[in-house]
Amino acid sequence: GPHPVTEGVRDLLRLEALGLMTAGIVHDLGNMIQVLASAVNIVERHPEVRGSAALQPVVAAAIDSLDRAGGTVRQILGFVREDAATAEPIDVALALAGMERLLRWLCPHPVGLTLQLDAVLPTLICNRHKFENAILNLVLNARDAMPEGGRLTVSASAEPAHLVIAVSDTGTGMTPAVAAAAFEPMFTTKPEGRGTGLGLPMVRQFARELSGSATIASQPEQGTTVTLHLPIPVVRESDAA
Ligand code: ADP
Repeated sequence: GPHPVTEGVRDLLRLEALGLMTAGIVHDLGNMIQVLASAVNIVERHPEVRGSAALQPVVAAAIDSLDRAGGTVRQILGFVREDAATAEPIDVALALAGMERLLRWLCPHPVGLTLQLDAVLPTLICNRHKFENAILNLVLNARDAMPEGGRLTVSASAEPAHLVIAVSDTGTGMTPAVAAAAFEPMFTTKPEGRGTGLGLPMVRQFARELSGSATIASQPEQGTTVTLHLPIPVVRESDAA
């Protein structure tokens, strides 16, 4: 079969070409998002919105989403050149709890979302947007695999040397051929305009940047679990301060 190193280099070259191609477009999108974000922030401060119990959560959701869109744009723009300076300590339990509202909003009935978090979870040293985006990509894929609903579980558990994050669904599952191709940049089975084929490659790149791994276990008609194994960094006192 193909040599894994050659495959990795080929994937990086494709990502780089894609990055160069889309950087201009993404940059423009970033500007539009900034304009929208300022507009929504002005709306948020408007007295009628402040007084309206019905509008407040809608505006809050818009702000949440625009924040995230801005983060995604920054992440894509920094996708080719890894910016290690943006790494920070991430309390995994806090980070996942902080995403819960958004995740629930993205996974309405008949999808049932469960967060299964160990009582004690480690701190990762990584880019916050990349962490959030990895979780978001996995949850959106799981949701999309269950158009008629099902169970979606996000679990995080601490092993002696690893943090294990698993996102599983009871959806369509993948054929072995799809599972084998799923991490390739721009591989998608979603209809035109719905899929970019960049979600899982970004998830895998995120895991590899942390010297970890991303793997798929999937059964057609049964469901899918994508698992991240992330080494727990040795936190020195100077990092924790
Ligand atoms: P996209 O979601 O834009 O298609 P991804 O890289 O995230 O890009 O996923 C690539 C493909 O892998 C998807 O089009 C789909 O065929 C398959 N896939 C990913 N996650 C799941 C899942 N949870 N269940 C079934 N298929 C999945």
